[in-house]
Amino acid sequence: MNENIRVRFAPSPTGFLHVGGARTAIFNWLFAKNKNGKFLLRIEDTDPERSKSELSEQIIRSMNWLGMTADEPIVYQALNIERHKQVALELLETRNAYYAFETSEELEEQRMLAQRNKVPFKYNRASLNLSEETIQKYLAEGKPHAIRFKVPEGITEFDDIVHGKTSFRNSDIDDFVILRSDGSPVYMIAVVVDDHDMKISHIIRGDDHLSNTPKQILMYKALGWDVPQFAHLPMILDEEKKKLSKRRNPVSTEEYKEKGYLPEALFNFLTLLGFAPENNAEVVSKEDLIKIFTFERVNKKSAVFDMKKLNWINGEYIKNAKIPDLISLLRNSKLSHELQIDLSSFSDEYLEKVFSLMKERISTINEILEYGLYFFKDPAGYDEKGLIKHWTPEIRPMFEKFHSELIRTEDWTSPRIEEMLRVFAESEGQKAAPFIHILRLSVTGRTVSPGIFEVLDILGKDTVLQRITDFMQKN
Ligand code: GLU
Repeated sequence: MNENIRVRFAPSPTGFLHVGGARTAIFNWLFAKNKNGKFLLRIEDTDPERSKSELSEQIIRSMNWLGMTADEPIVYQALNIERHKQVALELLETRNAYYAFETSEELEEQRMLAQRNKVPFKYNRASLNLSEETIQKYLAEGKPHAIRFKVPEGITEFDDIVHGKTSFRNSDIDDFVILRSDGSPVYMIAVVVDDHDMKISHIIRGDDHLSNTPKQILMYKALGWDVPQFAHLPMILDEEKKKLSKRRNPVSTEEYKEKGYLPEALFNFLTLLGFAPENNAEVVSKEDLIKIFTFERVNKKSAVFDMKKLNWINGEYIKNAKIPDLISLLRNSKLSHELQIDLSSFSDEYLEKVFSLMKERISTINEILEYGLYFFKDPAGYDEKGLIKHWTPEIRPMFEKFHSELIRTEDWTSPRIEEMLRVFAESEGQKAAPFIHILRLSVTGRTVSPGIFEVLDILGKDTVLQRITDFMQKN
C-alpha cells in the first residue's frame, strides 16, 4: 500500500449518482488502484434541506454496483461541521478572515449595482475597513454577521495534472464567505478542512470545480497546510455538444442498471470519456484499466457521451458474459415487471436457450424482453404489413395442411422441423420461404426474428401449435 496516495470521491447527496459523477469516481478509483493508494468516499451532506439519506444510500449502492468501495469508513461531512467552524475561527484569529456585517439586502443592492454597470459582482470589502471598535460594538449588539476569507494580493498558480500550469489573478477573486450568518460553514471551507484531515494527496474532480481551486489553495496556504495536487477532468457533453441532460439520455447511473447495462460495460465506457488507452482499445477490462491508467492519457477537451458506443460496448460485454450471469441480471430486471412477465415461471434451462440464441444480437439485457418478447408471451398482435404480404388467400389452405403435418412431427428439434417444412413445401410445389414467413408471423407476431427453426425449438411444440391455431382463428 502506498500511504502517500489518498484520493476521494465527494458527492453531495442532493441527487442520484449522475454518470458524470460516476466518471469522476472511476478516475479517482483507477488512479488509487494503479498507484496502490487509497480510494475514499466522503458524502458532502452539509446542506440540511437538500441532502437526503436515501440519496446517500442510492449513491453508495450505485458505486457498489459499479464495483467501487471505499478503502476506509465513509466520511459524512455533516459530522465535521464543528471542526469546519473551528478552522473558520482560526482564520479569523490569524486575520486571514474577517467579520462581514452586510445584510442580504445590502449585498443584493451591491449585486444589482454591478449588474447595472455590467461588471462582475465582487464584494466591496466595506466590513474589512471597519475599526476594531465598531466591530466589537456590532458584535456586542448581536448584529448578524458572516465571516469572509480575506483574499491576499497576488497570483495563485498550480500545476493541474490534466491542464498543466493554471493561474488566477487574486484580484479576480471575491472575499468569499466561509461561515454564513447562521453560523454554518460553506462548501469552500468544509472541503478544504476535510481534504486536509483525510490526508488527501490528489483532488480529482470535474472541470466545473476549477474556479474553486484557487480559493481553496489560498485557504490551505493561510492555514499553513500542504496543498494537495489537483486534476480537473473534462466535462461530458451529449452528442449535440451540450451539457448532458436527462431529456436526451438517462443521466442517473441507476437508470442504466435498470435498463439492462452491465456494470463492467458502463465502467469501461465511462472510463473512455476522457481517458484513451494507448492502442485506442475500446473494450478493456477493469483489471487492465487499473494497470494502464495514467493521467498522461487523460484528455483536456470535453468528452462526448455517445450512446451508440455505450450500446456497442455493452453488447460486447454481453457476448462475452457467462449465461448464468445474464440470467440473474434478467431475473432482477425491472422491465419484466413492467411488461408483466413472470420470469419465475421460466426455468434457467429455458432462459439459457433463449440467451444462447439472442446474446449475440442484443446490446442490453432488457433487449431480450424487447426483441424477444415472444419467448415470454403470446403475440398480442401481428405485424400488419407482414399479414398483407404473406397471409394470402392462396397460402392459407396450404398452411392449414402444413399445420396438421406439424402436429404429427414427433422429433421437435430445429433441424427436424426445418427438414419437414422443406419436404412439405416441395411436395406442394412451393418454395419454403412463404411457409417460413407465416410461421414467423404466427409464432412471434413479427417479420424479423433469429432463425425461426431455433425459435420453434426453444418455444416447444405445444406453444407453437397453440400460437398457430390462434393465428389462424384471428386472421
Ligand atoms: N461535493 C462536491 C460536488 O458534488 C464535490 C466537491 C469536490 O470534489 O471538491 O460537486
